[in-house]
Amino acid sequence: MTDDPAARIAELIEPLRVPPGTRVDVGRDFDPRYRAGLRKRDAEKMLDTGVALLAEYQQRLAAQDTYGVLLCLQALDAGGKDSTIRHVMSGVNPQGVRVSSFKVPSDEELDHDYLWRYAQRLPARGEIAIFNRSHYEEVLVVRVHPENLVRQRLPAEARGPDVWERRYREINEWERHLTDGGFRVVKVFLNLSKEEQRVRFLRRIDLPEKNWKFSAADVRERRHWDEYQRAFSAMLSATSTPWAPWYVVPADHKWFARICTAAVLAHTLIEIGPRYPEVSEEARRDLLAARRELEREAPPGAPADPYAARHAGPGDRRAAESPGGA
Ligand code: AMP
Ligand code: MG
Repeated sequence: MTDDPAARIAELIEPLRVPPGTRVDVGRDFDPRYRAGLRKRDAEKMLDTGVALLAEYQQRLAAQDTYGVLLCLQALDAGGKDSTIRHVMSGVNPQGVRVSSFKVPSDEELDHDYLWRYAQRLPARGEIAIFNRSHYEEVLVVRVHPENLVRQRLPAEARGPDVWERRYREINEWERHLTDGGFRVVKVFLNLSKEEQRVRFLRRIDLPEKNWKFSAADVRERRHWDEYQRAFSAMLSATSTPWAPWYVVPADHKWFARICTAAVLAHTLIEIGPRYPEVSEEARRDLLAARRELEREAPPGAPADPYAARHAGPGDRRAAESPGGA
């Protein structure tokens, strides 16, 4: 592996990307236990590095205020969405991130177009938004349980047998529109094995402090495992696009899922390459004038500019001459 973090990140996530235009079968093409030959003890340091990198890039993204990022997280129950978000975003400034969880739609939401509630939670420029479940539920749970589609009260011409193909196309076009306007969309599917889901459910039942995470509905959904695998495969095949690719992140090892999710987000931010805004000549003159005014207010005996006095070594006059730039 190379030492360049950007190259390492690209190398790590490349095998997870669903190549646009290919037909994938989750069960056949992706191994939930894959860990790229890494061990858990390598993981902690890698995640720390990733989290620090995200924090730095998020600051620049916010300062530049031009691009926004949307990360969509999908998984079956117990796939680890919540804990992945908690770990991956642990270093970033909460003011620059917005996490939205999507549950069973409300009456008001059902009264609108199916993309309406997601559109309201999109990132602003300078922001990272995370969707914990996303508009992809509209071709997953709604497809596996068609009574959800009935509740959406679509006109007859919009609920024919081609409804899923239509939704894939509409979603792709919506994401294209967002991307063209400076909002990058990146999508992670946390791919859990059926056996690991069984183990995690049992853990939730066995540990009293985890009981709240479990509901009887979770075992009912599990009975539809194969239908979900088919719906995921069809969705990944149809909606991994050059502008908004899907990454299938192996999720049986939580530590590996975290590293990979952080890497996918970091990769997107590195591609955007946000920069701190340049200070114009005029603004720089204003900064210098403001500094002279503040320096004149120094009380007797105090250095005119205590910050520059502390940070500039002898002979280093940069800090004294060019605020905002070096
Ligand atoms: P949880 O994430 O465990 O709190 O569960 C949220 C529930 O909301 C899951 O069972 C999802 O399947 C369900 N859900 C999310 N989006 C939709 C949707 N658009 N239509 C129907 N059910 C949904
Ligand atoms: Mg749940």
